Amino acid sequence: MTLPNRGDIIPRMEISYDIIIIGAGHAGCEAAYAAARSGCRTLLLTIDLDKTAFMSCNPSIGGPAKGHLVREIDALGGLMGRITDASFIQIRTLNESKGPAVQSLRAQADKRHYAQVMKETLERVPNLDLRQAMVERIEPIEIENQELRSEGAAQPVLGSRFSIHTHTGWRYTAQALVLTTGTFLRGRAITGEATWGAGRAGEAPALALGEDLASLGFPLVRLKTGTPPRINARSIDFTHTELQPGSEVPLYFGHYYSAEERAAALQPAQLFYQRAAAASYPQADSFAWRPQLPCYQVHTSEAFHAIVRANLHRAPLFSGMIEGVGPRYCPSIEDKIVRFADKAQHGFFLEPEAGTPTKCMCRAAVPHCPRMCSGRCYAAFPLCATLN
Ligand SMILES: Cc1cc2nc3c(=O)[nH]c(=O)nc-3n(C[C@H](O)[C@H](O)[C@H](O)COP(=O)(O)OP(=O)(O)OC[C@H]3O[C@@H](n4cnc5c(N)ncnc54)[C@H](O)[C@@H]3O)c2cc1C
Repeated sequence: MTLPNRGDIIPRMEISYDIIIIGAGHAGCEAAYAAARSGCRTLLLTIDLDKTAFMSCNPSIGGPAKGHLVREIDALGGLMGRITDASFIQIRTLNESKGPAVQSLRAQADKRHYAQVMKETLERVPNLDLRQAMVERIEPIEIENQELRSEGAAQPVLGSRFSIHTHTGWRYTAQALVLTTGTFLRGRAITGEATWGAGRAGEAPALALGEDLASLGFPLVRLKTGTPPRINARSIDFTHTELQPGSEVPLYFGHYYSAEERAAALQPAQLFYQRAAAASYPQADSFAWRPQLPCYQVHTSEAFHAIVRANLHRAPLFSGMIEGVGPRYCPSIEDKIVRFADKAQHGFFLEPEAGTPTKCMCRAAVPHCPRMCSGRCYAAFPLCATLN
């Protein structure tokens, strides 16, 4: 056997950065952008780069609780406001009939387009590398001021060094790590009586990193969230709904546009309406400043409530199967019907997730009962006569 030429042997790589961000959700993208713009050599690692800033639930941005956050991110030079402006399919001011203190801007983004624009934007940022890999292990090599940190003192940890290991066997080192892993660490999905490991719908959980953090002494708790069903738009008779059109006047989340940028935000290069509108969804509103898709309001009925009440024992929140608490107030439809038993109906919204929608999300009507029960609930509506 001939010995290999020493120059041909490629050594095991360990690449060094100033900062590594683990997870390219909303938080990770902003953290990576801020770090790179501050001049730090930055690495953003994520499980699937095509799911960069992908929204797990409704692709709505802003609203009463979070609209000011998007503005703050924009004021700090962040990306969310601008990417929303480039990818929304509807924008409007909520509570317009009420006082200014309770008004807020809310946009409905095209879910895939938002993710694509965010990824393409980050790919052009100097000092920032994007890599697709699942991080499995964190190895603290050196932690300066460790004693001070464990006593809770707010001391800088300059001089720290971490090594991280990915599922593909790569190692990277950095002086600082930012973990923005969202719902993925030891994540579980629950639908009615069924449960399985998931980071979010259709994606695997990050099990190894969850275990690793626990072994490093970080306390882990479980939070819960919920997502409403999507109804095939072909099953909906939109004449039974109340129209919620987009704004007739130009509105944006981004505040610091130059004149050219504002013109581009008015008519972004890649707009959904350049594709054929979905035959199953009503056509876009043709406002001069930018076409938008309407949303619709509907109300539950007594027949809907009766099916929910009869199947409460199969809803995991009521059967005790879900133990985690929600990070925010987002009651399920069972919760609303039980807690506000005196109300004959509850409002909810049918909203598109894309510029060419084939399905509608039922916002504010998250049932926890098994799929067959929630299917029966929605089929009880005249508007879903041919539910699919
Ligand atoms: C079903 C559901 C419904 C929700 N509904 C709402 C809602 O209505 N409103 C709302 O505001 N929020 C909702 N959320 C919460 C939602 O997760 C957050 O709002 C938002 O996505 C959080 O952004 P993030 O950047 O923190 O995390 P995420 O968007 O979850 O992004 C985390 C990223 O980290 C990556 N990652 C995870 N582990 C690793 C690893 N080990 N290595 C490499 N990459 C990793 C993932 O691939 C992902 O890209 C919902 C979540 C779910 C699952």
